[in-house]
Amino acid sequence: MKLLFVGAEALPFASTGGLADVLGSLPAALKRDQGDDLDIRVVLPLYQSISEKYRDKMEKVTEYYVQLSWRNQYCGLYSYELNDVTYYFIDNEYYFGRDKMDALPQQCRSCKWLFACNGGCPKDRFLKTEMGEGGLNYMCKGFMQIFERVAPYMDFMKNELQHQRPPANVMEWAREIKP
Ligand code: SF4
Repeated sequence: MKLLFVGAEALPFASTGGLADVLGSLPAALKRDQGDDLDIRVVLPLYQSISEKYRDKMEKVTEYYVQLSWRNQYCGLYSYELNDVTYYFIDNEYYFGRDKMDALPQQCRSCKWLFACNGGCPKDRFLKTEMGEGGLNYMCKGFMQIFERVAPYMDFMKNELQHQRPPANVMEWAREIKP
């Protein structure tokens, strides 16, 4: 039998939560159980955060280009064997690099909505800030309007939760204040 898992994360390569535990342990456990009757492989993004100790031992399988609307995106494919399981890694800096976290202009880094927005998707960051720095999301103004608009309601619900009351009370509160 052939079995292919496709996921966003797997231990020990990349982990933010429980999915990484499952994809890091289940394929190897199935392989141990089924032996040669099972050909099991896992597909993951090649995140920039994956340790060099794994990257250095990956083998390049192939590379190709994928047409995505008006963009022609590079896609590299690497493999790595671990516990009799073949892991494949999809390489694309545009989608799996660290720009989401690291490539923020100062305007975003000092923005009060950074915690909720984090600059938005890196592919949409093609405006300049008022200071002339590149990398600002073209939907920034819209993001700010949305965050300003919903903030009082979020604050109300947070307060209700902190006082052990249902956050759905916001509905009645919203009707009373007639925004
Ligand atoms: S709202 Fe605008 S300035 Fe603030 S983090 Fe988002 S994109 Fe950056």
